[in-house]
Amino acid sequence: MKKFSFLLLAVLFISISFAGFISDSNAQTLSDKKITEYKKVARQFVRKALEDRKGYYLLKELTDIGPRLSGSENSIKAIHWAKQKMESLGFDKVWLQPVMVPHWERGNIEKANIVSSKKYKGRKLVIRALGGSIATGENGIQGKILSVKSFDELRANKDQAKGKIVFFDRSLDQGLYSGGYGGVWNYRVFGPDSAAKYGAIGLLLRSITTKYDNNPHTGVTIYSEKVKKIPAVAVGYLDSDFLRMALIEDPNLEVNFKLNCKWFPDAQSYNVIGEIKGSKYPDEIIIVGGHIDSWDLGVGANDDGAGCIQSMEVLDLFKRLKIKPQRTIRCVLFINEENGSRGAIVYSAFADSSHQKTIAAMESDAGSGSPRAFSIDSDSLTIAKIKTWLPILNQTGILQVRKGGSGADVGHIKSAKARIGYSPEGQRYFDYHHSDNDQFSIIHPREFELGSAAMATLIYMIDREGL
Ligand SMILES: [Zn+2]
Repeated sequence: MKKFSFLLLAVLFISISFAGFISDSNAQTLSDKKITEYKKVARQFVRKALEDRKGYYLLKELTDIGPRLSGSENSIKAIHWAKQKMESLGFDKVWLQPVMVPHWERGNIEKANIVSSKKYKGRKLVIRALGGSIATGENGIQGKILSVKSFDELRANKDQAKGKIVFFDRSLDQGLYSGGYGGVWNYRVFGPDSAAKYGAIGLLLRSITTKYDNNPHTGVTIYSEKVKKIPAVAVGYLDSDFLRMALIEDPNLEVNFKLNCKWFPDAQSYNVIGEIKGSKYPDEIIIVGGHIDSWDLGVGANDDGAGCIQSMEVLDLFKRLKIKPQRTIRCVLFINEENGSRGAIVYSAFADSSHQKTIAAMESDAGSGSPRAFSIDSDSLTIAKIKTWLPILNQTGILQVRKGGSGADVGHIKSAKARIGYSPEGQRYFDYHHSDNDQFSIIHPREFELGSAAMATLIYMIDREGL
């Protein structure tokens, strides 16, 4: 036993020393002269991005097209806009990669009101269909409400669900630094199925938001094949407060809601891809991207127009500063992140089977706030190496390089040595997410442009130093 402990201690000691040696030795691979030189380049990216605001105006153009849900006419307009823009920016090669995408439309009827209640009869509720919901039929869905806060509470009251409309009255945990999205998103995705399983006829979901307003937030909902599909909507946060109060006064009140959303056959769509060829290692690819589709509420400025334009601007910043990359830098605008990830699936199959090697794949899909961190999915040696670049990344506002998830799209590219998520300040992210609030006016030009500069700096470091 004692011997074993000794051995364990020795192994632990060697591991710690080795880990220290790894990061120290990597830190020393950059000479002071190089660090000074790279810091200068980082500051040039910052100055160029902030002074020109070119990306900001490009984002205005993209969002002027309107919302860009997969399969919509607008999404195709945006795809062609992006292709033409990449060509006019002078990228070496620009192409569209075909992807078949799901096609769902919201329709033009989203009405809900309280019926069968003396006090509140006729009171309207602001609702939006959850993405992928089925329609209600002309007369709508009408029933009493079973209000629950969790899947557990629903299960405990499953005998009461039959023939009723389930109301998931669940808020984000506002006490968490992250805003608490992790504890609620699954109610939007799996809520309708879980309610239908116990015989419910419809689903109301308290809008998933950190903003105290009445604009419901949509997002994908997934039906399983085994359970009968029921219509599902998000209810404005303020109207959810009202409904909670009204149900205390009159637990027997009934709600009627109508939707005429519709599913269509899969539609032809595309990923938009543009690249600048590497001068020294053209077959080593560094990817930077976002998703070109958005939900159909708002105009997808923050989610994820910002990430698409920042990715395009990374390549454009290289061009504007006349920096020739040694490796190929490729911008990929993925289609269908919001309700299927089909673009990521098609691109990753192409990348993973290509003779070209994906060195790194970076994604910006966490909003347009000021730079904070890069979250990296890779082996510890690679992460340790990138961490030694922090003094350079600091010039753009990046405070941290951490191990963690990357992004919904680049996460698919398993052959990439490192998958990287750009992680800006995000306290307002869920104020806008998937709602009418996601407009161009919420974009702060300096915060947004600093994001392009931060991303360009890390891409530049990978290009120059390799991984
Ligand atoms: Zn997104």
